[in-house]
Amino acid sequence: MMGPPGSGKGTQSARIAEHFCVPHLSTGALFRDALEKDPESAVAKAAEVITNGGLVDDSVVMDVVASVLERYECNVVLDGFPRTTHQADLFEQWLVSVGKHIDRVVFLHVPNDELIERLGARRTCRGCGYIASLRLEDADTGIPCPRCGEDLYRREDDRPTAISRRLAIYETLTAPLLAKYVETGQLSSIDGTQAPDAVFRTICETLTNPI
Ligand SMILES: [Zn+2]
Repeated sequence: MMGPPGSGKGTQSARIAEHFCVPHLSTGALFRDALEKDPESAVAKAAEVITNGGLVDDSVVMDVVASVLERYECNVVLDGFPRTTHQADLFEQWLVSVGKHIDRVVFLHVPNDELIERLGARRTCRGCGYIASLRLEDADTGIPCPRCGEDLYRREDDRPTAISRRLAIYETLTAPLLAKYVETGQLSSIDGTQAPDAVFRTICETLTNPI
């Protein structure tokens, strides 16, 4: 699954995983897991750098992803990797070496002005960690968490300067990947501005119809 921050990639990945009964492997979640389980491991050290917005060597990221993917024989939804063309090349080499392949690269297209609006209205629960996508006019009205009733707050990452930085990083590193997957014929670009249910239906059609 590919898409800029705020495109709904995480939500849609989870829905696809549930619908097709396959694991949802979000690299963000994998890294957080590694950190919690064994903070001294090499994976956790790399994860810490990445979650703090730093960059680690692409081969380290590839090792982390490979160590997880090796555990699965079934299809998986991979969310958050590869992020750079170099990672994509390493991934391709790894896939060939283990006799696996990418069925489809789904890209959720959402224009920048809408991403900025969505990310600006995103609040995180202090209690359960739920991420609430509010309407911009409701974002600072003190609405409680819909899951547990605790306060919602704005993560540093969802402040305007951080949002611009995240989108710029995405443009620079990840956007060139699209060109690569257009070339290989694996890319399905989907209009991510539709309502979530409509986006999901479109993704399902894409995944169940051969290219
Ligand atoms: Zn909550």
